[in-house]
Amino acid sequence: ITGRVWSFRDVTERVHAQRTQERLLAEAHEAIRVRDDFLSIAAHELKTPLTPLRLHLELLKRALAAREPIAPERVDKAMAQVDRLSALVNDLVDATSVEAGRLKLQRKPVSLLEVANEACSEFRGLSAEHAFMCELPQEDLLVMGDRGRLSQVLANLLENAVKYSPLGGTVRVSLSHVDGNAVLSVADGGIGISREEQAHLFGRFFRASNAPVSGFGGLGLGLYICRDIIERHGGHIWVDSELGRGSTFHVSLPVLTATAQWEARP
Ligand code: ADP
Repeated sequence: ITGRVWSFRDVTERVHAQRTQERLLAEAHEAIRVRDDFLSIAAHELKTPLTPLRLHLELLKRALAAREPIAPERVDKAMAQVDRLSALVNDLVDATSVEAGRLKLQRKPVSLLEVANEACSEFRGLSAEHAFMCELPQEDLLVMGDRGRLSQVLANLLENAVKYSPLGGTVRVSLSHVDGNAVLSVADGGIGISREEQAHLFGRFFRASNAPVSGFGGLGLGLYICRDIIERHGGHIWVDSELGRGSTFHVSLPVLTATAQWEARP
């Protein structure tokens, strides 16, 4: 042996590029899986109300043809399925707007006392199987916001409280003034959410693993839309929950000061 040749090549960059490529590929696979899961859930959810809807319409048609009296409950049942379909379609439309950052808000001073009172009476009328306790203050709390969208958030939280708690359960709605913020809370004694899953609750298409226990379907879009609405109002939404013991969802919004109320007058 008269000599040796040593050759070194720095492959750090190549290894790094390969790892990045592998990561991107894994992310693309995950995105495709989430999209496929979502499409199959959405298709199933949209299809479910169609069978009973068609059945009720068919029976109505027969009753009309036979000149039989039409039971109002039959029409109500058909309408309930139409409402379910529209709620799903509205969520899909809203989620697309959230994603594109173009959910429209029409801001005016809004009385949260009125929003909470209206939601409580509406839900008392809708669900006789739950008790609704509304602990509302004497003093009104005004915020600058979109009344329809804020009512939508409260309705979503109340609907979830009903869906994810047993019949006969109590749902509590409260409103309070904490450090310049209005805090609206909806509490139930239902199935609760595990600590690990709470972190994903406001994400798109997320449904907790115990959600099917409730027997209610869903797209996992409601809380995602709620979070966008509340954050665009400069507020926060969060949950305190214990698996099997119940959940309390809180929404906090900056209270409109007297000066701002004066400036916002029509
Ligand atoms: P959906 O109810 O249509 O699935 P949401 O976005 O409103 O969608 O809720 C996402 C998930 O959060 C639900 O699927 C459920 O797992 C969980 N969740 C929401 N509210 C409650 C609640 N009050 N109690 C227990 N779980 C809840």
